Order: sequence, then C-alpha cells, then structure tokens
Amino acid sequence: MSGTTTALGMMLSLSSMPCSSSSSSSAASSARSTTSSSSRFDGRGTSSMTMKMIAATRRRRTTMTPTKISTSVRAAGAAKTSDTSFDPREYRRKLGKSDRYTRKFLNDPEAKNRMEEEGIGYSMSGLVAQMKEKNFVHVEGDVTVKLADSYGFCWGVERAVQMCYEARKQYPTEKMWITNEIIHNPTVNMRLSEMGVNFIEEKDGVKDFGPVQSGEVVVLPAFGASIHEMKLLVEKGVSIVDTTCPWVSKVWNAVDRHARKVFTSIIHGKYAHEETVATASFAKTYLVVKDMKEASWVCDYILNGTATKAEFLEKFKNAHSDGFDPEKDLNAVGIANQTTMLKGETEAIGKLFERTMMEKHGVQNLGEHYLVTDTICDATQERQDAIYKLVDEKPDIMMIVGGFNSSNTSHLQEISEDANITSFWVDTADRIDTENNKIAWRTSYGEMRETENWLPEGKLTIGITSGASTPDKVVEDVLEAIFMSKAKTAAGSAR
Ligand code: SF4
Repeated sequence: MSGTTTALGMMLSLSSMPCSSSSSSSAASSARSTTSSSSRFDGRGTSSMTMKMIAATRRRRTTMTPTKISTSVRAAGAAKTSDTSFDPREYRRKLGKSDRYTRKFLNDPEAKNRMEEEGIGYSMSGLVAQMKEKNFVHVEGDVTVKLADSYGFCWGVERAVQMCYEARKQYPTEKMWITNEIIHNPTVNMRLSEMGVNFIEEKDGVKDFGPVQSGEVVVLPAFGASIHEMKLLVEKGVSIVDTTCPWVSKVWNAVDRHARKVFTSIIHGKYAHEETVATASFAKTYLVVKDMKEASWVCDYILNGTATKAEFLEKFKNAHSDGFDPEKDLNAVGIANQTTMLKGETEAIGKLFERTMMEKHGVQNLGEHYLVTDTICDATQERQDAIYKLVDEKPDIMMIVGGFNSSNTSHLQEISEDANITSFWVDTADRIDTENNKIAWRTSYGEMRETENWLPEGKLTIGITSGASTPDKVVEDVLEAIFMSKAKTAAGSAR
C-alpha cells in the first residue's frame, strides 16, 4: 500500500483537473441476513449501512407496507473534466498498468466455496439444483413449479462477487469500500456489508467520497463506474479493484470507437442507470434513448425536423452530452446499449436508425453515417428467451425473483406482464406473508403493491425465474415460502 496520490497521478500523466464526486446510487436495499462470517473474510463488522438494512427488513416483516421504489439512479457522476484533450480510453489503459489497480479475477476456490456456503451463488444441492436435474420441474402437493431454463446469476455477476470475496481476503485489514451495490441484489449486498465492505453513501443525491482515505481499497461494481469516478479515486490514492463485467467493457469499447470516428453514440438505456452513466463517460458525444418511442421521436426529427432544436434539447435534457447540437450531432451515429435492456428493442432501435440514415443519406453512404456493434450480453438475452418460452406455457402465476433496482429483472417482469400472466416480482422471500397468504410485490413500472389471498386454492402451476444478479438460494427461499403458504391455505380451508 505504498505510493502517493501524486506519484500515481504523475505516472498516469494525465489531466490534473480536480474531480469532485457525484453520480448517485440507490443505497443497498434491505435484505435478510445470511450466515455469519469467519475471520479470514471479515473486515470491520457490521456497518451503519447494515444496521439500516436490518432495520428496514424488520419494518417490512412486520408491516409489509407497500412503498414506491425508485428504479433508477440519478445521473450525476463525479465532476466531468472540461479538458477536451482528456482521453478516457487512454486514461483507463494507463490505469490498468498501475500497481494500485487490478481487474484480475483469481478464481480462488476458497472464495468460491465461501460463496456457496453462504448461499451467495449457484445452488449445488438445493431445490433449484435438483430441478435442473429434473427437466426444470418440481411438484409439491397441489403446486407444480416450472423453472425457466435460463435464470439467475450470470457469470459476470458471479465473477464480480467472487472478486469482492478475493479482495477481502487479499486486504484483510484495510478499510474497504464499494462505489455502488456490487450488483443489484439485497442479499448479496447485505453479505458484503457484513464482511466490512462499506457502501459510498449519498448526500443530497450526490455520492460522498469524503470518508474514503488514501491507502484504502475501493471496489468498482459489475456494471462499472464512470471514468470520472475512477480518476477521482486515483487522485485519492486508493487501491482499486475493478470487477466491471467484460460485457460492459465491450460497450465502452464500442462508444470509444464511435468517438474516434466522430460518430455520436446513441445509447439504448436509462440515462440515470449507473451502467449507462459509466458508458456515457467513455463516449464523446452521446444521446441516451430509453425505448423505441424515444428513438422514433429522434428519427422523426432527423428526417422531418418535427421539433425545434430547443424542443429537442428540452426533451432529452438529462440524456445528452454537454454541448450536444441535434442539428450537427445526428449526422453520423453508432448504436450502443445498456447490457440489460430488452434485446429485441435494442435491435429494433438499431434497425430504425439504420433505415433513417439510409433514407437521409442514401444506401451507398450508409457506412459514413451508421455504425453498429453487437454488444447485447448473452446472459440477458438467454434469460429473456427463457421467460418468453415459459410464459408461452401459460402458467397460472409467474414469480420473478430479483432486486427491485435490477434493470434486467424489471424486463423479465415486463415480458411476463405483457404476456398477460399474473406476475409477482419479489426481491426476497420476506415479501411473502406465509401466515396470511399475502404478498408484497413490485410491478415492472415501479409500483409496490400488496395482494391478499394471492395463492388460490387447489392445483396451481407456477412459473419462476430470477434476474442475473439473484443467488439461487433466494429462489429456493421464495419457493419454500410458497409451499408453506399453500400448505397453510389448504389446512385452513379443510377446517
Ligand atoms: S448481465 Fe451480462 S453484462 Fe451484466 S454482469 Fe451479467 S454477463 Fe455481465
């Protein structure tokens, strides 16, 4: 842990513009505690964040009060440098050579075993593992459960969590931070908190890096961090453990390619999502469109001038790069995406811009005005394909399991709702009140609801899947709660 901020800054020999923090995060949400930890991996005991989580969980257990959950993280980002010569890719490349930075995955079996023991990973012998062996079906009493054939933890998430365990082992005594939830799952984040990993908290919607001191360790989550945050951390003299998923880095490379060709990056994503904030920080000129409707609006503007420049800038006021000029900056565009968006929609948006550019500039000139790279993550795609298959089988109920601020999980719920299946999205089994046959759940559009008598009497087929950041154990806990509720309901009606 030797070296100073200045020395590292000189080694990187890059802009000395001061960075201040920003980019907000939703704080780790509440969750059930997992098993206790042993000395090797444990840092400093229960943090205040953990206490808040536990308190929130207790409140929920007793009241199940529906709450409105914000799905997005406000875009802020650490202060952007105004130095136009600042080259994010070059900065990251040099950072990669620093002895205070690592993105190396050690694949340490001890860390992997620890994750398994603590229910933070794949199920090896539980019900989910058994279902995989039995054609993804399980029957218990009146309930038939069908598990999607692709679900849960993706390799990028597993890798990020394991890297965090590895970092705790490598730095057993250093104070450790994470710039955001490592992944969007309350159970996992609770466990990290128990291991003494502190979450950077927000003040007035802005991340507060003030408490982070030189010599401490900061983990960057699976969905990455903005280049401005990385620069701020370098200047603070911390050691950085970068768990960014390689698929996310692939998108960063795509927007970098756009910038080098002087193309504008059209990013299909949610402008306030941390991953999109990070991706945008690697782009030079960008516009974020959240769905097909917004993309169509932009294409209409390009072809038909259907709005004024002022109207354009007002509509996308939080979703474009500084100094964006729609009259000039939509002449040549490249497509990129938040890796967790609906695959079909990203493809459709790409096709729409391709057609628009052909119409505007002629087929023969398309290459000068349109660029596409396949950056849709396989894991997201496979989980979406699997749920389409499952809802086609028309189960009576769909259960979607995953963190309430997980974008990929919200899309699973959206697909299920669109198929007109009664769908309940829960983040932990605590949402199910087994005594009273009641459930608190979230819609794909962010509304918390509470449903009484949610499990009907008699035979029932339930489809179940989970988001890419959900450990199998959480799915098993949800199934256990369902079986328990159903058994109580049956016993009640028999009396
Ligand atoms: S969902 Fe895809 S991009 Fe996100 S962490 Fe997993 S593998 Fe990586």
